[in-house]
Amino acid sequence: RAASAQGPGAPGADTTRPVPERFTRFDAHPGYQQLAMMRQGAEQLGLKDPFFKVHEGLAGATSMINGRQCINFASYNYLGYSGDPRVVQAACEAAAHYGTSVSASRVVSGERPIHGELEQAIASTYGVEDAVAFVSGHATNVSTLGYLLGPKDLVLHDEYIHNSSLVGAQLSGAKRMSFSHNDPAALETLLDRHRHQFERVLVVVEGLYSMDGDIPDLPRFIELKQRHQVWLMVDEAHSFGVMGETGLGLREHFAIDPTDVDIWMGTMSKTLSGCGGYIAGNKALVETLRYFAPGFLYSVGMPAQVAAPSLKVLELMSKEPERVAKLQAISRYFLEQAQARGMDTGHSIGSAVVPVIVGSSPLAAHLSHALLEKQINVQPILYPAVPEKSARLRFFLSCEHTQAHIDQTLDILATLIADAKG
Ligand code: PMP
Repeated sequence: RAASAQGPGAPGADTTRPVPERFTRFDAHPGYQQLAMMRQGAEQLGLKDPFFKVHEGLAGATSMINGRQCINFASYNYLGYSGDPRVVQAACEAAAHYGTSVSASRVVSGERPIHGELEQAIASTYGVEDAVAFVSGHATNVSTLGYLLGPKDLVLHDEYIHNSSLVGAQLSGAKRMSFSHNDPAALETLLDRHRHQFERVLVVVEGLYSMDGDIPDLPRFIELKQRHQVWLMVDEAHSFGVMGETGLGLREHFAIDPTDVDIWMGTMSKTLSGCGGYIAGNKALVETLRYFAPGFLYSVGMPAQVAAPSLKVLELMSKEPERVAKLQAISRYFLEQAQARGMDTGHSIGSAVVPVIVGSSPLAAHLSHALLEKQINVQPILYPAVPEKSARLRFFLSCEHTQAHIDQTLDILATLIADAKG
């Protein structure tokens, strides 16, 4: 078209014309501008930056921050296996045997026996045919959604779905629509209205929502997916190790047939105490991803010392269900005690993730800082991560937290909230 013929690089275009600085400087980038505004706002309110706190050792129920041992509610070491000597030993032995990198994509020369062992363990834990392990949980969702779907397809997702699934859906070029949080009836309306305008339709929900600590009504989502002939994906990043009597996740919690979910996704970075993500499902799905998902194919294989701890944790979990029971009991205790002190815990069901909603970002940031002064570490979740009116402190529980940790924390928090409200 005429416009593009006169565009940059067209014959006769003036290539010496200066380009505005806002297109050449990183400090003019909208992201940097936003960061500068956030910092200025925080400074005016006398708030310290709550991000990038340095933990100087193992982050468990307690953690060393600024040389002080703190009670820690900001790490998803749900079953306390990160730092367990048996898990650390597995990592050390794997590194000694295989070296610290597999030095290639698995498709070429990066394949090691431990990859298959881990994937088989994941598949049999889920009771499905196969599984594939990616080097990052985020990349797992980006690559899986990004590859499986295309412009004639539709992604329907819970409005609170994790960024990685959103980015994957955007990358795929599929049409994307969200339904209200944990609302199967809203999904049903969208399916009734739109299912037949598209080829493949994927519904994405999470097993335990990481900001709110609530779960979907999975049997109802399964019923809808069957009726409308669409795929269902469940991101179990936070529910695996947490939900179900022995920590096997939502399928155990709801006693469903695991093959009723088409795509089980999870991460190694939480309960499994490593790093990476997995997709578990039928052979055709997993084989397709192994050969074509860009974040798998074009990325290095998982280092053995990262695969080994997750494999070890799967073995230990099957022998130590008492850890799951302890996590569930201490999480319920936290929820009850927070509610008893009049705190707003939203829709949390008291399973490893409990928010205390305080309703303003400056207040959440202030409370987080004041708690740290008292050697209690909890992350504030601020706008735009959540709407401003639901800014919160988000507590991650671990089976290693004690009632004393919780009593002390909630008493101090209650006083701080009362002081702040004057
Ligand atoms: N899915 C969910 C629901 C998550 O919360 C996260 C991050 N915590 C991811 C995927 C990405 O996983 P990872 O941090 O292991 O890359």
